[in-house]
Amino acid sequence: METIFSGIQPSGIPTIGNYIGAMKQFVDLQNQYDCYFCIVDEHAITVPQDPIKLRQQIRGLAALYLAVGLDPKKATIFIQSEVSAHAEAAWIIQCNTTIGELERMTQFKDKSQKNGRTGVSAGLLTYPPLMVGDIILYNANLVPVGDDQKQHLELTRDFVERFNKRYGQKNQELLVMPEVKIAEQGGRVMSLQDPTSKMSKSDTNAKGFISMLDEPNVIRKKIKSAVTDSTGIIEYDPENKPGISNLLSIFSAVTGRPVAELVSAYEGKGYGDFKSDLAEAVVDLLEPIQIRYNELLASDELDEILDEGADKARLVANKTLQRMKNAIGLGRKS
Ligand code: ATP
Ligand code: MG
Repeated sequence: METIFSGIQPSGIPTIGNYIGAMKQFVDLQNQYDCYFCIVDEHAITVPQDPIKLRQQIRGLAALYLAVGLDPKKATIFIQSEVSAHAEAAWIIQCNTTIGELERMTQFKDKSQKNGRTGVSAGLLTYPPLMVGDIILYNANLVPVGDDQKQHLELTRDFVERFNKRYGQKNQELLVMPEVKIAEQGGRVMSLQDPTSKMSKSDTNAKGFISMLDEPNVIRKKIKSAVTDSTGIIEYDPENKPGISNLLSIFSAVTGRPVAELVSAYEGKGYGDFKSDLAEAVVDLLEPIQIRYNELLASDELDEILDEGADKARLVANKTLQRMKNAIGLGRKS
């Protein structure tokens, strides 16, 4: 059976973008693959986090993983910082990656441009190697992520090729080469307030995203005030009409109805009708998830699942880490 790894940062409450681009895929894939779904808390601290809030967000994200339908009997669900192999592997990977490669990462360029190079942590530059480690430790063949992670996956593939060439024995695969898997619909959900930039849970303007825990009335308000255009015609044209096109993609991803079908169903209708139907579809999707989320947060079940998940993850991750250490000659023992 092929293996899947993916993770979400507890850097805020997940958005509908995280759901459509990542979580929704996870639920479908858990039946066909050996899956590892991680709460990547070490990634979240590349930018400042409040310790109390971070702890809440970690547990909250775990509860959401389960609430959307991930089944701990099928998938291993765990917290990154509870498996120390991630940080250890990241060091080895950093020492086999150039600064030039990391400086080319658009996420680093964006965030360091905003805050200035001296104002961002070194971790913001070196976090892609941590992500490389996340993937390779579980021998993942496939990594389901949003479109924004493509470049990090390319870095991972370059690293695996280089590491295997440099340290691998002939005919023996040291590290598994992963492939990226992007959702067909909604791989890049855009901000409701600025439809030319990606929806992000760490956006300081909460009107730009729908959080998975937003109350129905908040969802309705946010969708109603989503930026569109003045033509009033519902059509899919991301270049010229990014706002309404984004709402169409969200509608399609949430209901499973193809974009073309939605366009013809709303022909001649205004943005107002369309937005209120979309809001109801999002509310219908999120309400049962939120109920389950609240039950899980209050249960002991959640911590048991995470303890078991970390135990299972450690077994696999430590094996790969040892294989890496042996290959490069660290320590004394195999
Ligand atoms: P942050 O702003 O803290 O980076 P984020 O919303 O970008 O938060 P991540 O934890 O970085 O979320 O990403 C988790 C997963 O969700 C990744 O697979 C990422 O590609 C996907 N993802 C993030 N934003 C979107 C989006 N707008 N549309 C589709 N997928 C997304
Ligand atoms: Mg992100």
